[in-house]
Amino acid sequence: MRVLITGGAGFIGSHLADELIKARDEVTVLDDLSTGRFENIEHLDGNKSFNFVEGTILNEGLVDKLVEKIDVVYHLAAAVGVDLIVKKPLESLVTNIKGSEIVLEMVYRYHKKALITSTSEIYGKNTSGPLKEDDDRILGSPLKSRWSYSTAKAVDEMLAYEYWRQKKVPTVIVRLFNTVGPRQTGAYGMVIPRFVTQALKDEDITVYGDGKQSRCFLHVKNVITALTKLMNNEKAVGNVFNIGSQEEITIEELAKKIIKITKSSSKIVYIPYDKAYEEGFEDMQRRVPDTTKAKATIGFKPTIDLDGIIRDVVEYARRI
Ligand code: UDP
Repeated sequence: MRVLITGGAGFIGSHLADELIKARDEVTVLDDLSTGRFENIEHLDGNKSFNFVEGTILNEGLVDKLVEKIDVVYHLAAAVGVDLIVKKPLESLVTNIKGSEIVLEMVYRYHKKALITSTSEIYGKNTSGPLKEDDDRILGSPLKSRWSYSTAKAVDEMLAYEYWRQKKVPTVIVRLFNTVGPRQTGAYGMVIPRFVTQALKDEDITVYGDGKQSRCFLHVKNVITALTKLMNNEKAVGNVFNIGSQEEITIEELAKKIIKITKSSSKIVYIPYDKAYEEGFEDMQRRVPDTTKAKATIGFKPTIDLDGIIRDVVEYARRI
């Protein structure tokens, strides 16, 4: 199989590239290295089945050329991370909407198949967990960056779905909940790499809000298995799937757990949301996925628990 991974130098994309190379696919990575890093794929460079193209999904001519030559596209390129979205809202909107439209149009033009990665952010403030794929979206004002990101990703889903419904382009939509593992950077807000780095340096652990908000974290390895299985399953076409863990933890408990595992002398400090992000920032209190559909379709089941995830992230942080 000839595969294009947009955003393949990013945290999730680079793990996917590793897996597909192992499975003897021919892999082309398209990445503009805005948040992705060449170091994530450096070890693949030189492999004759691997090709890295530095460029953006907004470059229509480039995407046209690349999609023509492959069989399937994993579309992961996007502006991600709450911190980045809040700091660069316009750029994020354009990349996430226009970029996805270009990718899907080329997939249609050359009769290929695409897996589009979406996000649990699309559920917005719906905290009635566990969230099913057809549950309601509850959003704040579109003038708040977080909700414009949620909407941009929802537009991506609508595009992928309508290309399937109206033009018979085989598309699969995957909503990723909090994903963690080696190579994820805390630079764009992600909580576990941030807490681990702070703990290893014995610095204050920055819990935003009161820390009572909760999340479920899934190891990137389990995410990659789910992505490849969904790409290769005919029943997944034209459908959307939640992928995430159901092991729920509050952010305050997460901070304590990381301090314990790293044997750190860090203290927890509580930072109000408007200081951490922007005035009027709204957080999700809870986000738990219902993964019944993925379980029924591909036998999805997390295999690494939160302690295992944290140990992996700690080991990576100590190594770099
Ligand atoms: N968070 C935190 N301290 C940090 C970074 C994040 O308390 O240094 C909180 C954040 O406010 C949110 C949770 O951790 O409630 C998860 O944040 P992340 O950005 O990793 O993911 P998302 O908000 O998209 O679930």
